[in-house]
Amino acid sequence: MKKFGIIGPGAVGTAIAYALNQSGHNVALFGRSNSTVLFQEYNHSVQHEFTVHALQDAHEQVDILFIAVKTTQLDSIIPYLNNNVIHSNSVIILTQNGYGQLQKINHPYKYHAVVYISGQKDKNSVTHFRDWTLKLPLDNNTLDLQAVTQDSLLNIECLEDYPEHVWYKLIVNLGINTVTALTRQPAVVLKSNEVKTLCYNLLVEGKRVAEAENIHFDDDLEESIMKIYEGYPDDMGTSMYYDMMNTRPLETQYIQGYIYNLSQKHQLSTPYIESTYAILSTF
Ligand code: NAP
Repeated sequence: MKKFGIIGPGAVGTAIAYALNQSGHNVALFGRSNSTVLFQEYNHSVQHEFTVHALQDAHEQVDILFIAVKTTQLDSIIPYLNNNVIHSNSVIILTQNGYGQLQKINHPYKYHAVVYISGQKDKNSVTHFRDWTLKLPLDNNTLDLQAVTQDSLLNIECLEDYPEHVWYKLIVNLGINTVTALTRQPAVVLKSNEVKTLCYNLLVEGKRVAEAENIHFDDDLEESIMKIYEGYPDDMGTSMYYDMMNTRPLETQYIQGYIYNLSQKHQLSTPYIESTYAILSTF
């Protein structure tokens, strides 16, 4: 039986722990210190308690490791990977927003999942809102993972067109995360025509950068994403909005920064990305 480990007992990490635990998998959850975390489904009263083991004291090598800390916390866990939780054949799945940070991890079998698991952590309680999907590139390791988790709530997708999915999520995050974080307002902010136009222009520029990277979307990508945003409840925040409101570090470097750096590499004119990225980088 494969041994699973998860670093980061937060919204995404605890949801993965729950999903695997429900179907009887052997799962170890690692955090900053020995503690517990409570998990519950939105609108359900039943809470599930998970033991969290201090990562720095861990000496339990796992076969599949999910890394579910925020991008801003990745550097702090890297020193513990090799000695504490992985062996030479372990498979590492990074479950973070943004892109480009996988290169920080020095290991042959590493993958960056496009994450569709929505939840929130408040103190030591995690509420899961919706979705259980991790989108990964297609190869033997990811197919193995799909096979061993097929009886669980986790939905592992192994995709030939994985880069398109990476870019789609990057562009979705570029629009709504930028405007909600900068205005410190949840989705209701799109009721302002000026902010709506800014958001749309960010999507246009994001798509232009994707095209320079040889990723091609339908002509109406921006309209279809704006329609998705329109369906968001007014009081719905984004991860970057909540980080801004709670004065936590923002994941700007690997979302807006990743796209901005590529726009510079391709010598594109992306003034909306450039100016909003400049302001976000100051937080
Ligand atoms: P989160 O709730 O803040 O969870 C991160 C967890 O990592 C926290 O429990 C944190 O502990 C822990 N951690 C931080 N530094 C650590 C360290 N040095 N050693 C061990 N544990 C450490 O974040 P999240 O919402 O799950 O987000 C994780 C990633 O998924 C982010 O990139 C996010 O953008 C992405 N994502 C999230 C969602 C969502 O709905 N939440 C959806 C899609 C993608 P403390 O609590 O002690 O800080």
